[in-house]
Amino acid sequence: MGLKVLERCRVPSAKNGILIRFRPIAVAFQVVLLLVWIEGTNAISKGSWVHLEVDNKKHGEKHVLSHSCIHDEILQQRRRPGRKEYSVSPQVYSTPGLLNLNHRRGRALLEFSSSLDFERDARQPIRIFLNYDAVGHSQDRDCRDVGDIVKLGEPPATSIPGSPACNPHGDPPIFGDCWYNCTSEDIAVADKKLRLRKALEQTAEWFKRTLSVEPVKGNLRLSGYSACGQDGGVQLPHEYIEDGVADADLVLLVTTRPTTGNTLAWAVACERDQWGRAIAGHVNVAPRHLTAEAETLLSATLIHEVMHVLGFDPHAFAHFRDESKRRRSQVTVQLMDEKLGRMVTRVVLPRVVMHSRHHYGAFSENFTGLELEDGGGRGTSGSHWEKRLLMNEIMTGSVDTRSVVSKMTLALLEDSGWYKANYSMADHLDWGRNQGTEFVTSPCNHWKGAYHCNTTQLSGCTYNREAEGYCPIVSYNGDLPQWARYFPQANKGGQSSLADYCTYFVAYSDGSCTDVNSARAPDKMLGEVRGSCSRCMSSSLVRSGFVRGSMTQGNGCYQHRCINSSLEVR
Ligand SMILES: [Zn+2]
Repeated sequence: MGLKVLERCRVPSAKNGILIRFRPIAVAFQVVLLLVWIEGTNAISKGSWVHLEVDNKKHGEKHVLSHSCIHDEILQQRRRPGRKEYSVSPQVYSTPGLLNLNHRRGRALLEFSSSLDFERDARQPIRIFLNYDAVGHSQDRDCRDVGDIVKLGEPPATSIPGSPACNPHGDPPIFGDCWYNCTSEDIAVADKKLRLRKALEQTAEWFKRTLSVEPVKGNLRLSGYSACGQDGGVQLPHEYIEDGVADADLVLLVTTRPTTGNTLAWAVACERDQWGRAIAGHVNVAPRHLTAEAETLLSATLIHEVMHVLGFDPHAFAHFRDESKRRRSQVTVQLMDEKLGRMVTRVVLPRVVMHSRHHYGAFSENFTGLELEDGGGRGTSGSHWEKRLLMNEIMTGSVDTRSVVSKMTLALLEDSGWYKANYSMADHLDWGRNQGTEFVTSPCNHWKGAYHCNTTQLSGCTYNREAEGYCPIVSYNGDLPQWARYFPQANKGGQSSLADYCTYFVAYSDGSCTDVNSARAPDKMLGEVRGSCSRCMSSSLVRSGFVRGSMTQGNGCYQHRCINSSLEVR
């Protein structure tokens, strides 16, 4: 998806000036690769880096831009009485046999199971049609002038105009069903509209390369039975209902209404075909986030949100089909997990399980499926992968510029029976790779190596050794749930409820070993080198001419390479 450019690691030749300068301290030792990667977790602080979590900002930790998804919250609202979650509009598909049967047997089609090979071959890249007609056209929901008071969700009619006012920073915060006070940033001006089109077109293009569908024959037919989508939705254009939409497998109706907090966008499906596949959806992108700075984050966010429309959604799960187009009897399994001490929902789809086993190296029968998110409070329960297990995967409840699309997410979409996924579009997910069944099935305080830290006093290497990091531990006002108590103090835990309050090393913003332009200069005393071949390692090296204040170990960025199954560190 082009978010993370993986640079091929180039080992510099001996002629390289940097290496020559470091020759006096260069140490080459060959050890079995595995041992070295497991070693080095007794990270001890680096003088000035000793700190408590309150000092994080001082030491280069800055606010990471991220998108908080509210998909589950939207689904909750759609379940309110009187709301229609979606309509069904049957489409014509060109698979021979299926069509005739459709006319002859009506509902029996749902159980039909032949001509499958033909059908598979007949799949074509998905055609997503974008419609911007509704941008800026809603009287009571779009910000058109500074000072406009517009609806977010369905605020109750009260005697006080504009009350309750949206206030994500209030106590308690008010995110939805409130009145929003428009500022200049909330208005979809020309340059913001341009950014919107560019970002969505790129998203449609990305999905075209990633997913194939059985193409709709002729025009896509839509019922327009009710407004499509959320927060009043969008009325489908008349011609879409009368004539249909040419060359489309999915229509996305776009709006630019404000959102609260760090929610950049949201999206939901509103019409499905006879097989349950989404054929129309509503995508809302907040103008406030249509900026040059947020461009990369917006690309990731839109891929995430359109994934919800396409199938990463509990409503969609209910329509998932197997290879024979029969409705799947099991998509998720919910049970009380004794080991984790709480209720857990796991996706048990065959391709998801296969790719998860391969990713985690989880080949034990104790691995039964991939966990869905249950934490996070606002809006994230059941529509995302568990962040504790997938961390920076794009379909976890929060998205940032380091988010990657894994094979597990593509597998979920393929297991819907509606799509064929192009797995070469998946990115490399590092988190949890080859950590084994225990990693997936045990509480995170049992995690090993760099995946676990338990004191803010020590810095360390992040799980993938690409950066030096700190161990954020937060003291909350209230006690954490029983299952998340990893410390003697019931209110102490990691900073992310989505990641089950687990404590692990988080990279300093200037701690990257691979970024040669990092603000912090490499530590000369430790003989550090930054670059695409450098990784964070625990070290007791001291450059000649320097005296180490303490004999304890520290962490540093060192060049490495693998030769004949051995790791060489310079
Ligand atoms: Zn989401």
